[in-house]
Amino acid sequence: MRVFDYMRKYGHEEVVLCHDEASGLRAVIAIHDGTLGPPNGGTRRWVYKSEDEAIEDALRLSISQSYKQAAAGLNGGGAKGIIMVDSMEQKSEELYRAYGKFVESLAGRFITGEDVGTGDLELRYMSMETNYVVGLPEQRVGVPADYGNIMPTALGTLCGMKACAKKVYGSDSLKGKTVALQGLGKVGYLMVNLLRKEEAKLIVTDIEDELVKSVLGKDVTDVSPDEIYGVDCDIFCPCAMGAILNNATIPQLKCKIVAGSANNQLKEDKHGDELHRRKIVYAPDVIINSGGAIDFLDALTYGGEYSYSRSRASVERIYDRVYHILERSERENIPTYKIATKIAEERINKYRAIHDLRPERSKAIRMGFGKT
Ligand code: NAD
Repeated sequence: MRVFDYMRKYGHEEVVLCHDEASGLRAVIAIHDGTLGPPNGGTRRWVYKSEDEAIEDALRLSISQSYKQAAAGLNGGGAKGIIMVDSMEQKSEELYRAYGKFVESLAGRFITGEDVGTGDLELRYMSMETNYVVGLPEQRVGVPADYGNIMPTALGTLCGMKACAKKVYGSDSLKGKTVALQGLGKVGYLMVNLLRKEEAKLIVTDIEDELVKSVLGKDVTDVSPDEIYGVDCDIFCPCAMGAILNNATIPQLKCKIVAGSANNQLKEDKHGDELHRRKIVYAPDVIINSGGAIDFLDALTYGGEYSYSRSRASVERIYDRVYHILERSERENIPTYKIATKIAEERINKYRAIHDLRPERSKAIRMGFGKT
């Protein structure tokens, strides 16, 4: 791919390629935009078909990360880390510590956390080499014991889904609604619990059979990964990989709502237009999946220390943000993804005009990261 052309088109600031022979590390860190605050984003570990595919994924995901934070009113910029592996078994301490050293070398220009293929253990490995990691338990003071069972990204996704239900069905109750859930990883697994509490019916899928078996029950059935798009359901909830709303899948959808945590759900913008044309209500991913970003930027955005109750209240306001976009989409007859993009770009452009160009490291240190 023509990396500089892509960067010029979407306004990326920097791309870092990381290599470490001993651990086998091959990683890409894409920094999109630091206007609003320190660029940050999770680190994804995945098997890519080519280097181009990995770089493009990093570039695309970093844009979403900018928009997500801008639209949520957060003081953070967009970035993303990608670790390329030959198989998902490749996830050693050495690999993540080597990666952590690269993150540290950027001295606060990039702050990272979890994403697909990167969880608590991997965050811990990275944190042995760098302080620019978020999501470690000790960073959240005063969270309740069941924090791990609600997780901000899953809670925000549920709130956004309920807002969609309110718009489409006139009530935000999910009782008796059938939800097709794709991906049972960190977010998807918690969505199963949250949706069970809502008394929704679930049809689930994952490429890992063990994950599927672990959630089956009288209210949870399963289908194969290819079948999930065409199942009879009210709501499709993608919580796995991106680009799953495309030419092949959209014609199969029988749902009235798409509301899930996955990043970059639309393969291309035209697929958002197509959902709008078909009157399928789409909760823009950058709005509905912003719970994790809201939570880890709480301290920076409001100044001072992390507050669980403030963070949670802010995550729950995803309901209002999604509902507002759905109303506007209907009123102005514009696809929801376009409205989300407009809200985000307007905020970034406003701040770009007054950007004081302080180095990213000082911003990160004020945020409480880095060895001062
Ligand atoms: P994860 O790696 O824990 O889970 C992803 C799951 O999807 C895995 O179980 C995997 O086996 C499954 N999967 C992959 N391809 C699949 C396919 N074709 N069909 C069915 N299942 C498939 O990742 P996660 O942290 O739960 O993130 C899920 C999605 O939400 C990702 O798109 C991620 O970028 C996005 N997201 C996550 C967070 C977060 O805080 N973890 C925040 C915002 C957005």
